[in-house]
Amino acid sequence: MSRTLVLNATYEPLGVITERRALILVLNHRATMIEESGSVLHFSGGEIELPSVIRLNKFVRIPYRHAVPLSRRAIFARDGGRCVYCTAPATSIDHVIPRSRGGGHNWENVVSACHKCNHLKADKQLKEIGWRLRQLPREPVGAAWRILGTGQTNARWLQYLEPFGVAAATA
Ligand SMILES: [Zn+2]
Repeated sequence: MSRTLVLNATYEPLGVITERRALILVLNHRATMIEESGSVLHFSGGEIELPSVIRLNKFVRIPYRHAVPLSRRAIFARDGGRCVYCTAPATSIDHVIPRSRGGGHNWENVVSACHKCNHLKADKQLKEIGWRLRQLPREPVGAAWRILGTGQTNARWLQYLEPFGVAAATA
C-alpha cells in the first residue's frame, strides 16, 4: 500500500499516512488532494484517484518538535548521500573525531563517507592526514525532517519538502 504525505494548511510537512486514511480525510472534507498518486481505488459506485499529497483544510498546531533522530538514513540524507571527503556515493558512517579518540556519536561528529575514505582515515584525526571538511556537520533543522525520519520518501513529494529543509539530492 502506498503512502501519502500530509501537509499542514500552511504547507508545512506533517507526516506520512496510508493512502486509504488520506482518502478518508479528503472525502470528509478535512483535507484537499493536491497531488494524485497515479493509482485508482475501485469501489461499487465507480473509482477514485488515490492521493500522493494532501493538505489539511484547517491549520493544526504542532505542540513541540522532536530532535531529529540520529540514524544512518538521516545522516545520509543530511549529507546528500555522498561521502563528505571525496563526494563518491556514501556507503558508511564516519566519526570525524574517531570514537577511539573520544569522539562522540552525535550530529556534530558523524558524517556519511565512502568505504575507501573511511578505510583510509581509520582512527586518525583529519589534521593528521591533511583532510578537511567543506562544512561542519550539524543537526538538521526543518519540518521536512519529520518525513525523512520515517524513511519513506517519494519523488512526487520533493517539491513540498524542499522549502522545509531538504536538499534536492536527498529524495
Ligand atoms: Zn570518500
